[in-house]
Amino acid sequence: MAEHFMTLPCAPCASCRFEAWQRVVEGRLRWEEQQYCPTDEALACGGGWGPPPPWVRERIVAAEGVVRLAVGGPDGVPLRAVREVYGLTVPQLREARENGLEATAVEAELLRAMRGGPRG
Ligand SMILES: [Zn+2]
Repeated sequence: MAEHFMTLPCAPCASCRFEAWQRVVEGRLRWEEQQYCPTDEALACGGGWGPPPPWVRERIVAAEGVVRLAVGGPDGVPLRAVREVYGLTVPQLREARENGLEATAVEAELLRAMRGGPRG
């Protein structure tokens, strides 16, 4: 699922800069990451569809925080949308329905859009 266009020759060093972000492309969740090393003048980037891998998500969450969403019911985002976006298992879905879900701003935007959309 991940696409890596280039890998850095160096291990991440003190001057490496990381950037990670999410966006919605044609109704689907997409993540991108970039690593730039001024020491080696190297740039690596990657990206993929769906929820980002844990290390990318950590960076996005650290920068933007999360919002808590209710799942299911009249006020929550639809279970179907949650399953589609995150690919959750049935027990994970059940837990999200009981306890809500921590989503990034972009994920929340997509899930809310799916509530009102033709697929919701
Ligand atoms: Zn470096």
